[in-house]
Amino acid sequence: QILSATSPNPNSALTVARAFSADTSPIRATLFPGDGIGPEIAESVKQVFKTADVQIEWEEHYVGTEIDPRTQSFLTWESLESVRRNRVGLKGPMATPIGKGHRSLNLTLRKELNLYANVRPCYSLPGYKTRYDNVNLITIRENTEGEYSGLEHQVVRGVVESLKIITRQASLRVAEYAFHYAKAHGRERVSAIHKANIMQKTDGLFLKCCREVAEKYPEIKYEEVVIDNCCMMLVKNPALFDVLVMPNLYGDIISDLCAGLIGGLGLTPSCNIGEGGIALAEAVHGSAPDIAGKNLANPTALLLSSVTMLRHLELHDKADRIQDAILKTIAEGKYRTADLGGSSSTTDFTKAICDHL
Ligand code: NAD
Repeated sequence: QILSATSPNPNSALTVARAFSADTSPIRATLFPGDGIGPEIAESVKQVFKTADVQIEWEEHYVGTEIDPRTQSFLTWESLESVRRNRVGLKGPMATPIGKGHRSLNLTLRKELNLYANVRPCYSLPGYKTRYDNVNLITIRENTEGEYSGLEHQVVRGVVESLKIITRQASLRVAEYAFHYAKAHGRERVSAIHKANIMQKTDGLFLKCCREVAEKYPEIKYEEVVIDNCCMMLVKNPALFDVLVMPNLYGDIISDLCAGLIGGLGLTPSCNIGEGGIALAEAVHGSAPDIAGKNLANPTALLLSSVTMLRHLELHDKADRIQDAILKTIAEGKYRTADLGGSSSTTDFTKAICDHL
């Protein structure tokens, strides 16, 4: 199971209520196609949903060309309101200028919508051979603070300072989500990943919060692993881990490492969970400017992210059908994109998935 709904989920209540009423109107979901390969892979999702007859009406918002003074970014207030209203959505990758320019759109989204946990499942795909065939991990990344607080400044010429913020509230919230997730999905262990030997105050507080929550879940094994050792263990034997919870920056890095264990960034989905049952699914990868506009991108990661969105809406039949079609297409091996060693275009690969539906 890639990612099923987690309670409390006001959207499931909505879906169940709809199932018992005569309401057959489509569910509305926000779609941000994003930058680079985003529009190409978003098109793939739209096509697969249409072929699978998923009753979802996309409320599509393109990244604006003007900075919105209320968010200080190119993401408009209307786009944010769309997610708040629909409570569910799918986002493509958004590019961020390196070292200068506007505030990251991804950061703005996470902050404004309070998307506090980023859940990144990573598992070996049947029929696609890598060095491992037993990867089955869930990385849960704190998504709102840490090194991503955006508090950076020059102290004096030649000296800059960047603040890492860890709060008890955000740490308890993500730890609680990780343990709840582990319990709800029959997982055995939660590993807190840290560098508290060096960052004693910040990572120390994060660990303290994880320990506090762990005491409420005696049925789940709890361990603490220093991040550098965690990297070594993951590469040596990924089966050593189950659910991993960690501060923001470590989650960003470790989940890319995990993607590498199963065949690359074209394959790994994620879902951002926010207060009040908001779920904004997105691929782990970025806008891949090197292949953008060339019909080469692998849409699997965004498609599997859209599957997590369907599960959040408790539309499990559709989610299963789409997931099976994706996995069958990859396992057959006739149509694979270049990142998986094949020569299919994004559109041919998408068509092959549709043919398997
Ligand atoms: P990237 O993930 O875009 O690309 C890394 C490598 O993986 C590239 O070689 C790319 O071609 C390949 N790749 C990524 N997705 C692929 C796919 N679906 N199919 C085939 N190959 C794929 O990372 P980057 O180059 O470091 O970042 C590019 C931009 O994306 C930057 O502006 C960065 O800030 C942004 N970014 C955004 C997000 C997000 O929106 N959540 C995440 C990461 C990076």
